[in-house]
Amino acid sequence: MPDLYSEVRFMKGVGEARAKKLAGLGIVTVYDLLSHFPRQYEDRTQLVPLAQLPEKTPVCFRAMVTAVPRASYGRSYQTITRVPVTDGHERITLTFFHRKGVAEQLLPGKIYIFYGALTERDGLRSVINPDFEPEEAPGQVTRRIVPVYPLAAGLSNTMLSRLIGQALAQYSAQLPETLPAALRAQRQLLPVQEAYRIIHNPPDFDRLAEAQRRLTFEELFVFSAGLSLMKSRRQTETAAAFSNLDIAPFTAALPFALTGAQQRAIDDILRDLARPVPMNRLVQGDVGSGKTMVAAAAAYCAAKNGWQTAFMAPTEILAEQHAQSLARLLEPLGVRVALLTGGMKAAAARQTRALIAQGMADLVIGTHALLSAGTEFARLGLVIADEQHRFGVGQRAALTEKGQFPHVLVMSATPIPRTLALILYGDLDVSVIDELPPGRQTIDTFLVGERMRQRVNAFIRRQVAEGHQVYIVCPAVEESETDDLKAAEVWAQTLQQAVFPDLRVALLHGKMKPVDKEAVMRRFAAGESDILGATTVIEVGVDVPNATLIVIENAERFGLSQLHQLRGRVGRGSAKSRCILFSSHSSAQTQERLKAFCATNDGFRIAEEDLRLRGPGDFFGSRQSGLPAFHSVNLAQNLDVMEQARQAADAYVSQPDSGPEWETLNHRIRTLFDSSTGTFN
Ligand code: ADP
Ligand code: MG
Repeated sequence: MPDLYSEVRFMKGVGEARAKKLAGLGIVTVYDLLSHFPRQYEDRTQLVPLAQLPEKTPVCFRAMVTAVPRASYGRSYQTITRVPVTDGHERITLTFFHRKGVAEQLLPGKIYIFYGALTERDGLRSVINPDFEPEEAPGQVTRRIVPVYPLAAGLSNTMLSRLIGQALAQYSAQLPETLPAALRAQRQLLPVQEAYRIIHNPPDFDRLAEAQRRLTFEELFVFSAGLSLMKSRRQTETAAAFSNLDIAPFTAALPFALTGAQQRAIDDILRDLARPVPMNRLVQGDVGSGKTMVAAAAAYCAAKNGWQTAFMAPTEILAEQHAQSLARLLEPLGVRVALLTGGMKAAAARQTRALIAQGMADLVIGTHALLSAGTEFARLGLVIADEQHRFGVGQRAALTEKGQFPHVLVMSATPIPRTLALILYGDLDVSVIDELPPGRQTIDTFLVGERMRQRVNAFIRRQVAEGHQVYIVCPAVEESETDDLKAAEVWAQTLQQAVFPDLRVALLHGKMKPVDKEAVMRRFAAGESDILGATTVIEVGVDVPNATLIVIENAERFGLSQLHQLRGRVGRGSAKSRCILFSSHSSAQTQERLKAFCATNDGFRIAEEDLRLRGPGDFFGSRQSGLPAFHSVNLAQNLDVMEQARQAADAYVSQPDSGPEWETLNHRIRTLFDSSTGTFN
């Protein structure tokens, strides 16, 4: 007798082929299938009179077929069936392509409920390929809330719905309750089985919200408790306590005075480093707030105490940039700086490795491969991760698991609102650099429409004529890999050949190999191209001071925080810098959002605004957060549940319950960050 944990291929109606497709969605067991939550819902509960059908928005409507459907053959022999219908006031035509059976299913004089979108083509108002069922049939495809599932090729929504329905009927009674009754009562959360039934088949939106709340709560609770546990485990480990905390020679060597915020972050760090417990600190600071100097101070301190620092940058170019500037600053102070990257010649890399192993390099700068590539350190005392998104919770856990307990400093330019930070970085202490160095220029930002195109192009030319460089960013089309690639190439070709034939245009594309991306970036940084067209988010932290303009196409497709990251690519030199957002067909609300963005340069305020407008989904979804995918969190658009889950997790961790009812939960929390489960990587 198969159970909840049996593989789906043993279910009725699932063969080997279908099981393979399901596996592509991460669905192996029946439990996985049940945990495959809808990504959105279609509201098919309201019936709209024909006279009020909105354009291009699918809705349900009730209508009678007035004549026998007529089939004809269109281009390439496709069957076109036209069906006239009325609701007594208004008449419209339904058009079915390639649906031969329709003529037999839709009988004249009978009333049906349809679901589809009205489009107007050649003066003809028509609904194309609507779903339908007879009025007297129970609402299956109409008059209900229809879940829309994440799909894969060869799997239709209808088919997935049917399979999930079947699994619910047979197996949902076996779903184990993770949350003990006391906790559920206290937080007013639905039992797990009910939540699963509702999430797949919501009777109404209120019940749906309750189910989502329950599932999100559980996921965030486990995650949060897991992080706290990791944190408290680390507290019991020992690390080197640094006794020499005098960084005066370092500050004296700087060409500028530290800002108050930098000073405070450094004080936090020095206090941590003086304790015999590993530091786990996140330094959050907007682009350009001077995080590198904070890291340098920590590395300086480590070196003076006889410990090595591993400094990891997200890309090789950034590693090279950091190595250059830090060597210039720190070598005169007696700190030996080494660069170790994959691009180095084998002999040079070998030699550098030997120096590191002998303890003859104090500060080693590289990419995130630095730790995993098996580099041996003589005395590793401090690990610094610049731009934390590649150093997510999985890597933090891995470090702990290896039985290594260096001090860890994570730096992030992604301003994450406090509510979220508490969950995402629950295992870290946080210092915020909320102040930019004095005299920093603000980047003027403009929102424009298509009719400004010529003027913007002329402006781009002028920037280049003045010896500057320009980024043009276009969001990727997310259809298929090949389409995406082709669209990007066509776009770059147009830019180069039709728009700027006289300028040097380079292309950075999301599907490029990292080495190729680096090569393009390096050439741009060296001034060998005038325009960098990018269909991918340009790496955080890339520093090309000569770039003074960034043009962003279809700006409405980006979140505000993402736009802010992009804008941070310019304004890095002394020349006046600007950001131009193109957005043509967007709603008044979107326009307002973009205008708000134009009006401020403050990353934290923008992040708060993003959170208010778009909910936390974006933060969780973005790879910047360094987070694994959650099942249900992107369904939750409310912050209260996060806050509640975190509080409950805190209470739980400080006083764990161990009764039998808590066993499932305890187990999940304890094993959450075990690499053996492979969940978080
Ligand atoms: P980010 O926080 O984005 O990593 P960086 O560390 O790259 O910022 O610093 C941006 C620029 O600001 C660098 O050129 C750096 O030398 C300069 N800088 C850092 N701190 C100060 C300061 N206190 N006063 C003036 N300039 C500073
Ligand atoms: Mg930086």
